[in-house]
Amino acid sequence: MTTEVLIADLLLPGAAGEAVHDGAVHVAEGVIAAVGPVRDVLADVGPTVLRRRVRGTLLPGLIDSHVHLSFDAGSDPVGSLLDQDDEVLFAHMAARARALLDSGVTTVRDLGDRSGLAIRLRESAGLLPRILSATAPITVPGGHCWFFGGEVAGVEQMRARVRRNVRDGADLIKIMVTGGYLTPGGPSMSELQFSQEEIGAAVAEAHSAGKPVAAHAHSVTGIRAALAAGVDTIEHCSFVSDDGTERKSVFRADLARELVERGTFVCPTFSSAFTHIADSQDRAVIQPWLDLVRQQHEAGVRLIAGTDAGVPFAGFGDYVEGLRWFSRAGLPNEVVLEMATTTAAAALGLAERTGRIAPGFAADLLVVDGDPRLDLDALARPELVLVQGEPHVPRRSRATAL
Ligand SMILES: [Zn+2]
Repeated sequence: MTTEVLIADLLLPGAAGEAVHDGAVHVAEGVIAAVGPVRDVLADVGPTVLRRRVRGTLLPGLIDSHVHLSFDAGSDPVGSLLDQDDEVLFAHMAARARALLDSGVTTVRDLGDRSGLAIRLRESAGLLPRILSATAPITVPGGHCWFFGGEVAGVEQMRARVRRNVRDGADLIKIMVTGGYLTPGGPSMSELQFSQEEIGAAVAEAHSAGKPVAAHAHSVTGIRAALAAGVDTIEHCSFVSDDGTERKSVFRADLARELVERGTFVCPTFSSAFTHIADSQDRAVIQPWLDLVRQQHEAGVRLIAGTDAGVPFAGFGDYVEGLRWFSRAGLPNEVVLEMATTTAAAALGLAERTGRIAPGFAADLLVVDGDPRLDLDALARPELVLVQGEPHVPRRSRATAL
């Protein structure tokens, strides 16, 4: 493992407003040993330590808080998944994880796969982003994403499934609190899949094992139930009304207040899929989602970046497009950068390990061409990625092809 000093024209340690011109990071054994102005950092290292000057901006590696490595991002990811055996699927998942790395992502949270394949990938050789896996997401029989194998009925089965996922090596627990759009014939986005007691049992069981809980929730009722149970992150959080009108989202200040009071993180899953919808239908279709995100931000809700990569048209090589949607919603670039690094790390339980360039943190680093505070497009030009100190030169062509 390398020990070196990286020197950059501009260094963004992680929190909005912080910037070091002519900055340096001392990386030793995969961990950040020191960070600061180049003169200070070099004064404390021996003359034999390797120095590497990088062109552009050095910032923390990006975090994709919501991916499905087992989906192919095509028009029918469920059909493709069901057509593939585990070995074929595993090879595809590895390629998708490499595409994420090529786009500057050093940590991913996989929120649902089958047969523990993301765990196997996490343990495999070869340089990949750090993988957190939820293993099989928990759902009702025939419910949203039932095909991953996490179907349960009732409180006892719920508790047993959480324990089994933990035993299988899950880093967190994922519950499908409401239906979704992806599962053919499955419950709708406004349908609540579990009782309050069942959701509460899942959270209690997970937390007693030291594992956080991510809740997939679209509807107002679903979001409220997830909040009351004390989940750690809410995925999508689309404020879908409960009157049966699918996809009609209306901001609720009371719900936003509760999200803030409980400190629950929200991952709105902006991605290139939104671009596909805007281009193929009408930009106006996206506007309610943009408004919701802006209103949650203004209310003080802690938003994090995650693309739901793998669902239709949410590709693995285009992380930045999800960030551009936050910008289009009116959020300042520096806030968006925090959502992709420090805030995401906190939401994933990694606040002391990654998402920031600070002594003692993992050397998860990214060098990009340009200043992403001025233009997020700079993030689409990654020059160098380090995962726990291991360097990787991104292959941009491969990233865009996938
Ligand atoms: Zn998802």
